[in-house]
Amino acid sequence: MDIAANLAQVRERIAAAARAAGRDPSEVRLVAVSKTKPAAAVRQAWEAGQVLFGENYVQEARDKIAQVGPGPVWHLIGHLQSNKAKLAASLFAVVETVDRPKIARALDRHARELGKELGVLLQVNVSGEPQKSGCSPEEAEALAQEVAELPGLRLMGLMTMPPFFDQPERARPYFARLRELAQRLARNLPPGSMEELSMGMSGDFEVAIAEGATLVRVGTAIFGARG
Ligand SMILES: *Cc1c(COP(=O)(O)O)cnc(C)c1O
Repeated sequence: MDIAANLAQVRERIAAAARAAGRDPSEVRLVAVSKTKPAAAVRQAWEAGQVLFGENYVQEARDKIAQVGPGPVWHLIGHLQSNKAKLAASLFAVVETVDRPKIARALDRHARELGKELGVLLQVNVSGEPQKSGCSPEEAEALAQEVAELPGLRLMGLMTMPPFFDQPERARPYFARLRELAQRLARNLPPGSMEELSMGMSGDFEVAIAEGATLVRVGTAIFGARG
């Protein structure tokens, strides 16, 4: 597995997708998703210039972050339980999966105790699949208003995971829906609160970029298949 070569290829594909959409490639940041992969893999990516990393599980991230050491910036992209909020607030720069007031308040309290401002994205279940985490598009407005007022949190935008499709084009309407929701919410929020759209994974990040993604979360295309 040549992680540096994979990264270079993914970065080139991101830049090409941005240019094809008439966007500046620097508007799209890559979150390298390292879940289930060892610290050594993260280090290889870091040495190849990758800074942002995404992890799904708080405990796995704690061990890995300790092994990797300082440098990388970590995003939580997996579902968060309240009893892990304190640890999550200390490990991550951004929690992309805030989907209910209770978890927002817990993160706010712990972030303030740590004297840090925690970046937050609201995870929205735009497809309405019952097994998926994320608030509904209808709930997002009230949640955004509440998060915007919490001093320990910095609301940055929205995150979503569309249903899985073999054909990436079929995910496009879900990406478009997230972008439209962010535009709508932004009208009643402080400036800067809805700048980030985290959407797109290995199979569909080019379509997500065409629909406005500013953060793409890519694992397999960088680190290989997960066992
Ligand atoms: C695992 C995961 C990814 C990365 O998926 P790949 O298909 O390996 O690129 C992105 N986002 C979330 C929320 C994930 O759980």
